[in-house]
Amino acid sequence: MKEIILAKYGEIALKGDNRSSFEDILVKNIKRRLKRLGSFSCDRRQSTVYIEPLDEDIDISEAVDVVAKVFGISAVQRCAVFPKDLGVVEHNLDYLNDALNDAKSFKVEAKRSDKSFPLKSPDIQQKLGDAVSEKFPHLKVDVHEPEVTVRLEIRDNGAYLSAKRIMGQGGLPVGSSGKALLMLSGGIDSPVAGYMMAKRGLIVDCIHYISPPYTSDRARLKVEKLCEELTEYCGDIRFFCVPFTEIQEKLRDSCPEEFFTVIMRRMMVKIANKICEREDYGAIITGESLAQVASQTLAAIGCTNDAARFPVFRPVIGMDKTEITETARKIGTFETSIMPYEDCCTVFTPRHPRTKPRLADIIAAESRADFDRMVEEAVEKTTVKRFKFGERTVFLD
Ligand code: ATP
Ligand code: MG
Repeated sequence: MKEIILAKYGEIALKGDNRSSFEDILVKNIKRRLKRLGSFSCDRRQSTVYIEPLDEDIDISEAVDVVAKVFGISAVQRCAVFPKDLGVVEHNLDYLNDALNDAKSFKVEAKRSDKSFPLKSPDIQQKLGDAVSEKFPHLKVDVHEPEVTVRLEIRDNGAYLSAKRIMGQGGLPVGSSGKALLMLSGGIDSPVAGYMMAKRGLIVDCIHYISPPYTSDRARLKVEKLCEELTEYCGDIRFFCVPFTEIQEKLRDSCPEEFFTVIMRRMMVKIANKICEREDYGAIITGESLAQVASQTLAAIGCTNDAARFPVFRPVIGMDKTEITETARKIGTFETSIMPYEDCCTVFTPRHPRTKPRLADIIAAESRADFDRMVEEAVEKTTVKRFKFGERTVFLD
């Protein structure tokens, strides 16, 4: 018996003329992610990618988990493939043992995309349902809330039987929307922001600002670990690490304390602008959430935004902390985010930050030092690293 994974398209199925370019990227992404598990063939037909393991010893459940994290897929099904003959399928119901032996109720859902198949879907459901009931007499039929849904799809090239379907991430394939630069701090919000924009098809690379000796090496490692965790969804990630100490010290020495955070954020954005220009990123992404802290009031965001020369995407802007945290847990970044190492934002934090800064005051304060030159220097001293999908090289206790 042959087992195969079916990955169903999400939004791509709605695309018109340019659909095949999305499909090409999706298949490429799936192949790239599966590479380390062995060899697979990936073919696309009928809004589905057919993923067939070609090596004997491939762990299919691991492959299912990997594929379920690829953006662009709405559901992933592990199936057995049979000839299009109900008799043969009914003869092989052992395949469902794992899923049904300990279950209490089930229903059958049949789909017939090969319209030349003689039985219609309701008839297939009836017949297969009877056969399942006979083989697993402990099961009740429950068409409303079954514990297990047994699916049989009669497709062009075979009958696909499955009792295991997991939801995919949805979204669009990474790389189908261009690329953007995520300002990644060590907090909870920005990894979630990166995840959300990669979901809309962006290649997400990260920029992080460090202020040694005020921030420790561990703080940087923590952010690198977050990068590694994000590769599960985003694929490979480039990580730009910017030395930010001099700018922060200059800020402390020459600007009013109540403006520290906003000016600091503007400097971060100015550096990001230059990296975007040099490396051809089309947008900046941040984890800002409206009014979460003083630097994220409407007025403060307005001042920060003024420094940007690229669109700034803030996907968590309207989310509550609890919602952001929920997503962080779901994608597996939360535990790393709450590790206690200090970020550069906590260096020289003003006691009373201005919640309604005026742009003219901010710009006047900035003119007291030659920040433009310092921004240039920081860009020059920026280092780059690449984190590859699935690699785990950063360890922190
Ligand atoms: P997070 O939980 O992501 O740290 P936060 O609520 O702590 O967010 P701030 O510290 O005010 O918010 O930062 C707002 C945004 O600015 C972050 O979401 C991130 O995009 C960016 N940012 C802050 N500090 C850094 C940093 N050291 N390096 C890169 N980006 C940063
Ligand atoms: Mg932060």
